[in-house]
Amino acid sequence: MHAMVMERAGERLKLERIAIPIPGSGELLLKVQACGICRTDLHVVDGELTAPKLPLVPGHQIIGLVQECGQGVIGFQDGDLVGVPWLGGTCGECEYCVSDRENLCNRAIFTGYQRNGGFAEYCTADARFCFSIPEDYLPTQAAPLLCAGLIGYRSLRMAGKGKRLGIYGFGAAAHIVTQVAVWQEREVYAYTREEDTTGQEFARSMGACWAGSALEPPPVELDAAIIFAPAGELVPLALQAVGKGGVVVCGGIYMSNIPSFPYELLWGERSIISVTNLTRRDGEEFLELAPRIPIRTEVQVFPLDQANEALDALRSGWITGAAVLVPDTADV
Ligand SMILES: [Zn+2]
Ligand SMILES: [Zn+2]
Repeated sequence: MHAMVMERAGERLKLERIAIPIPGSGELLLKVQACGICRTDLHVVDGELTAPKLPLVPGHQIIGLVQECGQGVIGFQDGDLVGVPWLGGTCGECEYCVSDRENLCNRAIFTGYQRNGGFAEYCTADARFCFSIPEDYLPTQAAPLLCAGLIGYRSLRMAGKGKRLGIYGFGAAAHIVTQVAVWQEREVYAYTREEDTTGQEFARSMGACWAGSALEPPPVELDAAIIFAPAGELVPLALQAVGKGGVVVCGGIYMSNIPSFPYELLWGERSIISVTNLTRRDGEEFLELAPRIPIRTEVQVFPLDQANEALDALRSGWITGAAVLVPDTADV
């Protein structure tokens, strides 16, 4: 099969021909139909996340058709359309796993990081961590739900129930979260880079009631803010924008250093929290909710062998919505 392979951090992915993987016990062999590109993939490829297996096939928002079920698989059969998220496996026995916090598992393994992901024509996945994909979605449109959607949804839950929600960085996750928040009758204030008027227009088209630069003072006092951009300097800005009791949620896996700030920004029972990975329950809840809203994803599709170009476009901020890779061999 063809796969885009990372040999070393900081290098371009290489288009290679490698063996189609064989599903082990409890695993599915999937024919990849689409694989979303996430900012986390950039942090892996660029070496900001430092523990990938190598060589590695990245990609953790995989939509695939089941080609073969390994021994002992329950819940899926050949021909099912399934999704594979970032959480690829957990130990099932650590203090986090046994207290409904498997997202914090000490021995978790991650798709497209510690096991091969979906920048390929085929992949395998532990069936216990795969999701059924609602029939309402095309594979390319479902792919961004699996990380941008899931992590975004978890971030929104962490933000509490406040009505006025700020979102910093308007990419794949933000465009999905905005649709959920608007459906929940909240107001969304979208912050982008100063010059990014396209991003601001996009945010308004997704339902944001205001969009502007992160450096502008907010038009209202916010109840909560979610930061998806990996820029630490946004944390004090967001703290300044939320009122007393406000929450600032950092939704990314990586962020540049947060500059020091006066304690008074945190005073008034404001809080800062990060969102780490996902649980399977997040996935089940969110994938049940998505078609009811219904969430529509805005995607830019690239052929599999253009993965480097797609990553470059994401790095430069040229993607409106989410980038998705599709192999030539996809059938739907
Ligand atoms: Zn565990
Ligand atoms: Zn991701």
